[in-house]
Amino acid sequence: MTIVTRFPPSPTGFMHIGNARTALFNWLYARANNGRFVVRIEDTDRKRHNEEAVEAIIRGLQWLELDWDGEIVSQFEQQARHAEVANQLLEAGQAYKCYCTPEELQEMRDKGHGYDRRWRDKDPSEAPAGVDPVIRIKAPIDGETTIEDAVQGKVTIKHDQLDDFIILRSDGTPTYMLSVVVDDHDMDITHVIRGDDHLNNAFRQKIIFDAMGWDVPVFAHLPLIHGPDGGKFSKRHGATSVEEYKEMGYLPEAMRNYLMRLGWSHGDEEIISTEQALEWFDLKGIGKSAARFDFEKLENLNSHYITEADSSRLIELSLPFFEKRHGITPDAEAQKRIMACADELKSRAKTLLQFVDESVFFAKSVPLSYDEKATALLDQDSLKILDILKTKLDALDDFSNDNIQNACKDVAKEHMEGKLGKVAMPLRAALTGTTVSPSIFHAAEILGKTETITRIDAAVNRG
Ligand code: GLU
Repeated sequence: MTIVTRFPPSPTGFMHIGNARTALFNWLYARANNGRFVVRIEDTDRKRHNEEAVEAIIRGLQWLELDWDGEIVSQFEQQARHAEVANQLLEAGQAYKCYCTPEELQEMRDKGHGYDRRWRDKDPSEAPAGVDPVIRIKAPIDGETTIEDAVQGKVTIKHDQLDDFIILRSDGTPTYMLSVVVDDHDMDITHVIRGDDHLNNAFRQKIIFDAMGWDVPVFAHLPLIHGPDGGKFSKRHGATSVEEYKEMGYLPEAMRNYLMRLGWSHGDEEIISTEQALEWFDLKGIGKSAARFDFEKLENLNSHYITEADSSRLIELSLPFFEKRHGITPDAEAQKRIMACADELKSRAKTLLQFVDESVFFAKSVPLSYDEKATALLDQDSLKILDILKTKLDALDDFSNDNIQNACKDVAKEHMEGKLGKVAMPLRAALTGTTVSPSIFHAAEILGKTETITRIDAAVNRG
């Protein structure tokens, strides 16, 4: 049997972290088992459907590098098929027409119970004229149903908890409950892995599968994601949309590692590459209790994957951020400089934003702008020191990290009681316009003698 999993988001306009985890688990399970992973847009509520919302989901999947098989299915487009199944159930006596008026239904609600099944056994000849009926499923009345959930274990519900819910509205459109089942069947879904907020739906969906004589897929209901303080993960805890994490400079592989550990584990392993996960992932490893979102853990993983990442890929991924944050697109020369410093930049960076902010000085040219702290550092005393240093640097034949550092040390010894920081800090301010950067001696070496001297001059002679 080929394993087929699905990701069926409703097009809400963005991809929630919880949805991303659901997609990832389905993708991992399919890919780990040589199966298929399919995507279906649950757009039966046409008011909510728009192309932009669908694109947001596609962008989310693409960013996370979760590839899917076949065409993306639109649930809305299958409506005729859903209605056909409703009519088959009707003909088979598994469903019936109900002519209740809205007032009658309201009356039942007011009495504190659900639909009282009054049309279940009525003769169709009693149908009132001029009323379009809905079609309701015949839910079992006595006994109970147990679902063997791959995560939650055995879950039992008494049949008196189930009602004869509507599968086809009076206007002939299918309800969500029916559409999901028909689509899951038609798409050969073998495993339904989704949030446990859908566990109750599973019992209703099983009624339809059984009534049609279709195989019921394996259900695996994932515990919800909570915020750090408990409580459902929401905006008050921080970013909830996948795209926000992309914008904050997270790498997709870090996000995947983080999300897969939200609810699934393999021993005590924290750092799990996607390749490794494809070997290890199984439904047994999914825990029953809610996972807490831990921003620090995510950041640590991101650091790890930034350090591991191929430098040219990282620069490529960073280019939009250079533009957005600094209005600069590093040219070939600047990219070469950043590349030369990449190992150090990567080991410092928790996010791509930090990588960008700490390397953008390589892409700048004089006159640099100096931030507040750098401006404060470049006082009269420091400028005198920089002027002296400049002469020493200018005299270097080999403009290397070591020689630059030694020149600074000499100046510190002669003028600053040996305090290297008193020379290196102003040098950093002059070369970067900030007070935070990788090793400034190495940075100077990468900038080269001419550019270093130019920047020092610009700092010393600035208005
Ligand atoms: N469209 C549903 C949602 O976005 C998913 C339903 C399902 O997985 O069966 O929550």
